[in-house]
Amino acid sequence: MEYRTLGATGIKVSALGLGASALGNMFRPVSDDEAADVVHAAYALGITYFDVSPYYGLTVAESRLGKALTGVPRRKVIISTKAGRYGERLFDFSRARVTQSIEESLQRLRTDYLDIVFLHDIEFGNPAQVLEQAWRALLDARAAGKVRYAGASGLPLDVLMRFVDAAHPDVILSYCHYCLNDTTLLDALPRFHAGRVGLVNASPLAMGLLTQPGPPAWHPAPALLKERVAAAADWAQRHGVDLADLALQFATRRPEIPTTLVSTASADHLARNVRLLGEPVNEDVLAEVLDRLAPVKDLTWASGEPT
Ligand code: NAD
Repeated sequence: MEYRTLGATGIKVSALGLGASALGNMFRPVSDDEAADVVHAAYALGITYFDVSPYYGLTVAESRLGKALTGVPRRKVIISTKAGRYGERLFDFSRARVTQSIEESLQRLRTDYLDIVFLHDIEFGNPAQVLEQAWRALLDARAAGKVRYAGASGLPLDVLMRFVDAAHPDVILSYCHYCLNDTTLLDALPRFHAGRVGLVNASPLAMGLLTQPGPPAWHPAPALLKERVAAAADWAQRHGVDLADLALQFATRRPEIPTTLVSTASADHLARNVRLLGEPVNEDVLAEVLDRLAPVKDLTWASGEPT
């Protein structure tokens, strides 16, 4: 496993991190034992960065991650969680709720500090409230030593870039914008680098879209994108390549993107993902798949409230 520095924070993170959304049953029902096994497998494979949120499984993922990490020396891992999102359509970016949320996360994660807290999916918040209340609550928690680094996550890159300019966060989490079908994160890199932001890239498999079985029923991608990806996955399979393998390798091979979060509750999938980091990419199949996805390149979906 390669370890890279996360922007100006100076902290080292594994090039692949484990996203704990799967531990909150977001893709399929998962048992407590499976959840613990995948966390232990991740750590044994050299993964030292774990990301979660109170939203994943409505606190289930945080509790499971906290329990699974009890045997691991606290300083050996980087834990990020989030505040502000508590359900599919339930957001609260008030100062009081974010302050309380951090306390609750500390308890569920069984720790006295959180390495990183992101305001979760800020495009759903009122921009003034996000900046004047949620962000201030996070800065207070940082000043009190409960949180080491503070930032925000979301889908629309323009919202994240505006947040960088206004708040000067330590870290930003972007998802579904650096993967086989969408590379728009590259255009935002200069703004993030200028802001000395520690960049976390999430969803290398585009939340399950870039897999042979395809995305979960709730996946928000437009039908055309789903159709093209399914066709590309079938073509790759006929040529002996699993689309998920290709997607994982594609999303993790740029050192200027220090870390990528993948989620799974399967220890086998995780081991495969880690092994793929060190393996050569099938460049011919990659080129053909990118060609087949070209008509839907950078096609995304709406997220958040219109501003
Ligand atoms: P992902 O791209 O990691 O896809 C996850 C899906 O891929 C799951 O269904 C998983 O079972 C499957 N998968 C994983 N490895 C596989 C393999 N080798 N073969 C076949 N299928 C495989 O998407 P994600 O879960 O959305 O993102 C990862 C993490 O990033 C999340 O858990 C979360 O921590 C973070 N994230 C944050 C936000 C946010 O803050 N708004 C949004 C998205 C993701």
